[in-house]
Amino acid sequence: MILNLKKDDDLSNNNSYDLIIIGGGPAGLSAAIYSGRARLNTLVVEELIVGGQSSTTETIENYPGFPDGIGGYELAQKMEEQAKRFGVKFLFEKVERTELDGKEKKVYIANKIYKAKSVIISSGASPRRLNVPGSEKFHGKGISYCATCDGALFADKKVIIVGGGNSAVEEGLFMMRFTKDITFVQDLPYLTAEKILQERLLQNSDIKIYYNSEILSINGEERIESMSVKDKNSGEKFDIKTDGIFVYIGLVPKTDFLDSKVELNEYGYIRVDKDLKTNLEGVFAAGDVIEKSFRQVITAAADGALAAKSAEKYLENLKEV
Ligand SMILES: Cc1cc2nc3c(=O)[nH]c(=O)nc-3n(C[C@H](O)[C@H](O)[C@H](O)COP(=O)(O)OP(=O)(O)OC[C@H]3O[C@@H](n4cnc5c(N)ncnc54)[C@H](O)[C@@H]3O)c2cc1C
Repeated sequence: MILNLKKDDDLSNNNSYDLIIIGGGPAGLSAAIYSGRARLNTLVVEELIVGGQSSTTETIENYPGFPDGIGGYELAQKMEEQAKRFGVKFLFEKVERTELDGKEKKVYIANKIYKAKSVIISSGASPRRLNVPGSEKFHGKGISYCATCDGALFADKKVIIVGGGNSAVEEGLFMMRFTKDITFVQDLPYLTAEKILQERLLQNSDIKIYYNSEILSINGEERIESMSVKDKNSGEKFDIKTDGIFVYIGLVPKTDFLDSKVELNEYGYIRVDKDLKTNLEGVFAAGDVIEKSFRQVITAAADGALAAKSAEKYLENLKEV
């Protein structure tokens, strides 16, 4: 993917904001549109490019308003443009740490402290990494988490897709542009992707799927040669020859920069109430980083809108006190 490296916007206001939004994925961008329209002095801090995970997928087909689908990064750019139209500022840096328990929230970025009366955490999640013998050795050298980024490297090669959810099946379908030799390895006895995606996949007779399969190791000397797998029903062990492996086995929430006072659940997701308030006054959270059951662009965008509304109400109450 071509990275769109941008200069920071003009941030000449003593680094003090009504609202700082951490993360410029769909949740953060949607929050930014709502807070900009509420005339809150808002800063979005994004460490990479706008769109987060959605920018790593070529086409999004299930976001309303785009009957022919829209590119993940293109959608994010439109959201960014929309937020900027309402005066929101963007800073392309990593948030290193936070102090969010006081009245004045502190966000540490590149040796500077940015202050805000309220904060929305929308830092999303990253792909859960495969953790079997050989997986570290071949990380980035045949094991990838982004078919849109790396798919073309495997033209006419043998490829394994690990997983059976939406991301796995979507990315498997995308890989069919490059190669016909695609094998799915799924730990459950069925796929969990949307039915329409399953139908598209299963109509390709070339695709092989191993259900109920446990990955034992990734094997090879200089490059990946095979994956060893165990059938969980029969206990049979066998090797699948492959040149590359794309992994979609869930997410890990990105919260390593947060101070320990923000309450997380046992899986590391941020606990929120129905208005997306965290346990800390003036701190809200939205999108894939929160505890919830369905992680998509539309649910992240909806969270962003609600979190911004809650932040707006919080700031209004502050004025009245
Ligand atoms: C391969 C793939 C395909 C997908 N396809 C679809 C689809 O077709 N339709 C759909 O609806 N959903 C799809 N999804 C899911 C969707 O992309 C996510 O649910 C959505 O992006 C979540 O948005 P978010 O803003 O909560 O988090 P994210 O998208 O994860 O964005 C979080 C952002 O925060 C930034 N960030 C994190 N930590 C920091 C920090 N310390 N400092 C600064 N910035 C930080 C990250 O760089 C990132 O840009 C797909 C996901 C994947 C991985």
